[in-house]
Amino acid sequence: MMDAGGSAIVVGGGIGGLSAAIALRRAGVQADVYERAPELREVGAGISLWPNATRQLRRWGLLDEILRRGFRFGGGEMRTPRGTVLTAIPFPAADAPGVLIHRADLHAVLADALPPWAVRTGAEFQRLVDSPDGVEADFGEAGTVEGAFLVGADGLWSAVRRQVLGDGEPVYRGYPVWRGVAPVGTSEWNTLTETLGRGLRFGIVPIGGGRVAWWATANEAERAEDAAEGRRAKLLRLFGDWHRPIPQLIEATPDDEILKNGTYDRPPVRRWGRGRVTLLGDAAHPTTPNLGQGGCMAIEDAAVLARCLCETDDVPAALRAFEARRFRRTAWITRESLRYGRVGQWQHAAAVRMREMIFRATPAAVARSTMGRMFAFDT
Ligand SMILES: Cc1cc2nc3c(=O)[nH]c(=O)nc-3n(C[C@H](O)[C@H](O)[C@H](O)COP(=O)(O)OP(=O)(O)OC[C@H]3O[C@@H](n4cnc5c(N)ncnc54)[C@H](O)[C@@H]3O)c2cc1C
Repeated sequence: MMDAGGSAIVVGGGIGGLSAAIALRRAGVQADVYERAPELREVGAGISLWPNATRQLRRWGLLDEILRRGFRFGGGEMRTPRGTVLTAIPFPAADAPGVLIHRADLHAVLADALPPWAVRTGAEFQRLVDSPDGVEADFGEAGTVEGAFLVGADGLWSAVRRQVLGDGEPVYRGYPVWRGVAPVGTSEWNTLTETLGRGLRFGIVPIGGGRVAWWATANEAERAEDAAEGRRAKLLRLFGDWHRPIPQLIEATPDDEILKNGTYDRPPVRRWGRGRVTLLGDAAHPTTPNLGQGGCMAIEDAAVLARCLCETDDVPAALRAFEARRFRRTAWITRESLRYGRVGQWQHAAAVRMREMIFRATPAAVARSTMGRMFAFDT
């Protein structure tokens, strides 16, 4: 046995798992994270943190450091491939900032908020056995652990979900996302921008420190390969004649540092667990990245989970209350994100012209009202 007792077992050391451990420990629960990777690490890409997440991070005492490492932003623009601004959206007023940050920096801040012994790496969850009194989790060569309850925060391809819900695989939504971080050494490009073409999109995400993160999408089959051409060459073929600084950002990113992920989600489900087991973050409600809210929702989940556990001593009842409280919001964002992505990936010339007309004609107030609802969440 690695450990035993009345603690929480958190499977997965991503944004969701680390946030869950932080929130639970602040609520007086001894929560430990079990991560399968040999070390805690995040990929070389940027992430947007919106007020619904930074409000929570401030409560955990982490916002100042996040602001120090990241880039505070207050609005964004949508453009055509030639650079014409379709719409500029100043964000609605909120009592917490929006921050763009390198994922590794966010991860470091979250990990530093936990005592080192609260995170066990090299521990890959295999299976669990639950009873009315507790949960035993098997981490293979890393041993077994007993706890009062288990939180599956093991991401999109969650092994905990497979065992507890067994509801199949996530759904591929028709386009991958390439991501990178360009060390441009200048703060010249400091506006969050999304540029929409025909079945192609490119996002510019200034993250501070002379670095600009970016993302790109293209309609293609789930397992399409870039190998023959090389990722950077392929992206330059697709985006090379788009407005500045898009080709420059691709050029400035080393080929082997360009990441590629499919976009996946799942139709929302109400139940995320049973007995003393629940899910959180992408394991519970994976969403396409179109609204940049997946990580923010995982942070919200963590705060709500801790609150539910403070409200009753009945652990299974607290976990079901957590799931019930989170369903509507996470389902709404997942569906909105999917819808936005479908429109964003329109490829037909006439459809693209219509989309541009709609974006130009839509008052910023409409976008601001949806954002206001997204940003307003609090536990
Ligand atoms: C292209 C892209 C852009 C995005 N942009 C944004 C954005 O701007 N803003 C935003 O808020 N969100 C964004 N997201 C979404 C965000 O990245 C995810 O929602 C978030 O990372 C989910 O965190 P998580 O901890 O639930 O899962 P993950 O980050 O996937 O973490 C899961 C962890 O569990 C570990 N694990 C997996 N299986 C096991 C196992 N069997 N045993 C032990 N450990 C295991 C993994 O190694 C990993 O560390 C984006 C996503 C993508 C793909």
